[in-house]
Amino acid sequence: MSDCIFCKIVAGELPSKKVYEDDEVLAFHDIQPASPIHVLIIPKKHIASLADAKAEDWPLLGRIQAAAAQIARELEVEESGYRVITNVGANAGQIVHHIHYHLMAGARLSPLGV
Ligand code: IMP
Repeated sequence: MSDCIFCKIVAGELPSKKVYEDDEVLAFHDIQPASPIHVLIIPKKHIASLADAKAEDWPLLGRIQAAAAQIARELEVEESGYRVITNVGANAGQIVHHIHYHLMAGARLSPLGV
């Protein structure tokens, strides 16, 4: 999508601090980290949110979870623990409408909730 910032990062039109890349998945540091380690993991394919994923996308989204586990191992936070979440829609605080999974670690994270 031409006006999607994450598509522009995938295309190399905007910079990012990459931590992982394969043919279908890209991960990079969040520009405004909310935890000591805050990585965004995205499919290169534009999917607006989890709510927009089609049946054909489930293997791709599974690969993102596998990438998250690998990144956590590489960043050495597997033992201390980490969180992987995706925000869907306004109430959840989704700002960028290209599905992304936040991998957060490096501190004791606050409980989920309101
Ligand atoms: P959301 O609230 O779940 O949509 O999360 C969007 C995230 O993207 C936020 O944590 C932003 O800080 C992050 N973000 C926005 N633009 C960029 C960028 O250009 N590079 C890296 N992270 C970004």
